[in-house]
Amino acid sequence: MERLGAIERAIHELGKLPGIGPKTAERLTHYLLTADRSQVVALTDALRALKEAVRPCRQCFNPTEEELCRICRDPHRDSSVVCVVEQPRDLMALERTGTYRGLYHVLQGRLAPLENIGPEQLTIDALLERVRRGGIQEVIMATNPTLEGDGTALYISNLLANSGVRITRLARGIPSGGVLEFANTQMLADALEGRRAF
Ligand SMILES: [Zn+2]
Repeated sequence: MERLGAIERAIHELGKLPGIGPKTAERLTHYLLTADRSQVVALTDALRALKEAVRPCRQCFNPTEEELCRICRDPHRDSSVVCVVEQPRDLMALERTGTYRGLYHVLQGRLAPLENIGPEQLTIDALLERVRRGGIQEVIMATNPTLEGDGTALYISNLLANSGVRITRLARGIPSGGVLEFANTQMLADALEGRRAF
């Protein structure tokens, strides 16, 4: 393939971002071309810092710049309750409800046999280890109400069946097939409040 020029490269890279089609990628590129150099440098610095400074929390895998994320570090949170989510985006949606005071565990995905995503690609072992260490009384399965999300919740709840912890699932407030990150905040708060035994 012929080597792309700087403009084509920028359009190509920007076009890989979610929600950005070829036209938008082109518009952004021409915008950046005429923008202040300092603005473009600030953007590239922010992007680099994102990859270099941010890593998964040692305990819950929520992205953080520290060893432990701000939620795990917060002494006012209830460490006996752990809410299991697929992605950091879901955690953020639940945090927006403002009603949940427990901790989280980010799976970094969901079981998807068709895409060859098995338990070893997720942080399931780390979750089992957390439960084994003790101190956890309830694990709330807050994976998305999709086929794969439900399958993942079922898989994990089976693994935890004899652990002695209470396993619950979010109430069906969220439309089936929907995703947590787009759920309305009140709906999510209700789903959390109305959680039931798995
Ligand atoms: Zn954490």
